[in-house]
Amino acid sequence: MDTFFKPISGMDLPRFAGIPTFMRLPHVTPDHPRYRDVEIGLVGLPFDGGVSNRPGPRHGPRALRDASTMIRAQHPVSLVRPFEMARCADLGDVGPNPVDGPDTLARFEAAFARLKADGIRPLSAGGDHLCTLPVLRGLAKDAPLGLMHFDSHTDLFPAYFGGKTLTHGNPFRNAVEEGLLDPKRMVQIGIRGTAYDMIDIDFAKANGIRIIRIEEFFDRGIPDVMAEAREIVGTKPAYLSYDIDFVDPAVAPGTGTPEWGGPNAYQAMQVVRECRGLNIVGADLVEVSPPFDPSGNTAWLGASLMFEILCVMVEALKR
Ligand code: MN
Ligand code: MN
Repeated sequence: MDTFFKPISGMDLPRFAGIPTFMRLPHVTPDHPRYRDVEIGLVGLPFDGGVSNRPGPRHGPRALRDASTMIRAQHPVSLVRPFEMARCADLGDVGPNPVDGPDTLARFEAAFARLKADGIRPLSAGGDHLCTLPVLRGLAKDAPLGLMHFDSHTDLFPAYFGGKTLTHGNPFRNAVEEGLLDPKRMVQIGIRGTAYDMIDIDFAKANGIRIIRIEEFFDRGIPDVMAEAREIVGTKPAYLSYDIDFVDPAVAPGTGTPEWGGPNAYQAMQVVRECRGLNIVGADLVEVSPPFDPSGNTAWLGASLMFEILCVMVEALKR
């Protein structure tokens, strides 16, 4: 049996030992002889130049890698064993230019266009939510994707501070305007918190984007809400974007824009389990900010959510 893509087991080497790749997978760069065999690539995007207030998610990928060494081989409910069903690897980070946003976005876009050309489905770790825009530019230039989006913010705002500034508050507005996402197949879940105005909600209404606010989420319950969300996203190729600030800050404080009244850790995982059946061709987990995460709990939840997402992606790949 080909054991190259098998993660290092905690039964063989303790979890605190060794070099912490994502989920203890092999680190495979494009010049590696096994690169062409990779089916799902875990990628770090250490950039937070889109943050408008409290920075830090540039340190997210490293914290998520470290926390992810606690992940084991099998999903507790679906019993999916993702590392046996698909060839997964840690592809390393895409190097950003921390003092030049446009240069960084161009680097990220080129990296993901290459992954698409090479037939590798990406699961990325941010970085702030602006990182999702160049990922979508790399993946969805030829055909718009659906979007399953968990967040306490819509990220549909116009530019801040005048001009055409790209921030972590507007990746999805830009992605819709650039034709990378099909707004009729978009659903945004968990939206809450104080607002400046209704400008993002108006954009969603005008384009047919479904927003499920946190009040509706809790009133109806997760299975009902997620059944509707799956209907909207459909069975065509879709992207899953998970902002850790979807989760209540009592559970996940390590993020730049926390909003009270969110899901607990169980509910945070449950929504991903309800994504089974979707054709997720790419995904990310963003906005984990280690400087605001002294306990490491936010990174550990983030790594656990990446495993939940990976299991859904593997099932989609093998269907
Ligand atoms: Mn966001
Ligand atoms: Mn957010």
